Amino acid sequence: MNEISLKWKIFIFLIGFSSILVMLLWLFQVVFLNNFYKTIKINEIKSSAKTISKNIDSDRLLSTIQDISIQNNVCVEVFFSNSGDVYSSDVLRECTIHKMSILDKINILNITEQNEGKYLEYFTNDSNQANIYNKKNQDFIIYSQIITNKNGDVALILLNSVVSPVNATVNTLRIQLYYITGFTIIFSIILAFIISRRVSHPIEMLNKSAKILAKGNYETKFYGSGYKEISELSDTLNYTAKELSKVESLRQELIANISHDLRTPLTLISGYAEVMRDLPSENNKENAQIIIDETRKLTTLVNDLLDISKFQSGVETLFMEEKNITNIIETTIDRMNKFLKKEKYQIDFSYKKEILVKIDETKLIQAFYNLLINAINYTGEDKKIFVKQEICDNKVKISVIDTGLGIEEDKLPYIWDRYYKVDKTHKRAVTGTGLGLSIVKSIIEMHQGEYGVYSTNSGSTFWFSLKYK
Ligand code: ADP
Repeated sequence: MNEISLKWKIFIFLIGFSSILVMLLWLFQVVFLNNFYKTIKINEIKSSAKTISKNIDSDRLLSTIQDISIQNNVCVEVFFSNSGDVYSSDVLRECTIHKMSILDKINILNITEQNEGKYLEYFTNDSNQANIYNKKNQDFIIYSQIITNKNGDVALILLNSVVSPVNATVNTLRIQLYYITGFTIIFSIILAFIISRRVSHPIEMLNKSAKILAKGNYETKFYGSGYKEISELSDTLNYTAKELSKVESLRQELIANISHDLRTPLTLISGYAEVMRDLPSENNKENAQIIIDETRKLTTLVNDLLDISKFQSGVETLFMEEKNITNIIETTIDRMNKFLKKEKYQIDFSYKKEILVKIDETKLIQAFYNLLINAINYTGEDKKIFVKQEICDNKVKISVIDTGLGIEEDKLPYIWDRYYKVDKTHKRAVTGTGLGLSIVKSIIEMHQGEYGVYSTNSGSTFWFSLKYK
């Protein structure tokens, strides 16, 4: 795929980001500076006029005018038409309004009247009027406003401010911006390089190790540091590698076990069959029974293997029906008791009341049966097994308790794994595949139930629980 690497993405992002920053700087500092400055000056002159008009009736009108004039660097003249009073403040070196002829002022008064009492004119230094007013080097603004005081005397407020040329400033800024642009680009390149190295280097390392892992080298170690996500990813990959190597050794063990488990009954079957064929005296019921028993073991082994692969691939679905779980357990136990009577095994069942649960009967019997078979295989000398049905919080809990030697604590988490066997020999002459508990786990999980085990050196309790309402 034509994907861009993380390194380049960071680089492009940083360059893009700095370009936008530099572009904004250019726009504001160079391109729009003149307009900004003009707008500020226009607003300043308007607000000066506003303040004067507010103070038109004040005794301190003159000092207000002088203050404003100094503060905002504007020249001001206020004429009262009836009284003929003139208030003036001249702070500019070449003020236009103080140099205007009376005719010009009357002209401005007329224009202001036509413009509903407010008039603003911006003169650029090359305009004709600027020449008329004899100002050649600077832009300037004339603002006039007509206002009536409390005595009904009409006054013309006339203001003038100069807009100094910003070209020199712009030139200085432009040179500065050339440096800033250059510096930003170099800085982004360095930063992109450092960040991408810090971010992508550990990922590249992990990727390299993952490729080695994919080739089947489960001893691969992942080293990822620098930031949280990477060390978490590396921990996960280390864990995965560990689990994969466990599965791999279990798989090899399973092949060895299964071959052994298949070979033993097959040797017996073919051995006994040959004896029965060759020696008519050996052609008896007992020998035929051995062949039947060994064939059954083979069938169980093959069925377990088929079941587990179906559960693992997720093709198995449940056929759920409301069933009396207490009856089902009791019947299974009765059958088992009858079957094991000769071997003197005793399975007891205790329950308070019968419970209806939605289950897939066949699958649930299979799960329970696997727990029961394990309990029979591992229980103590007394050959006793207890099955308990309890009810708590709308859940029915079935426990299968044996009196065997229990399971070592460090082995407990693994017994539910596929192909796991604590030790390879069973007390009873029943071959285990290490699949029984894994089948239990799959079935109970498919029923959305819970399962678990408590174990001490005087016995184990395997349990599962299902919601029944
Ligand atoms: P297996 O076919 O070997 O019994 P399981 O998946 O049923 O396979 O059990 C896995 C391992 O858990 C067994 O090999 C055994 O060591 C241990 N185990 C299961 N049930 C019991 C039990 N009731 N008491 C002691 N150990 C048990």
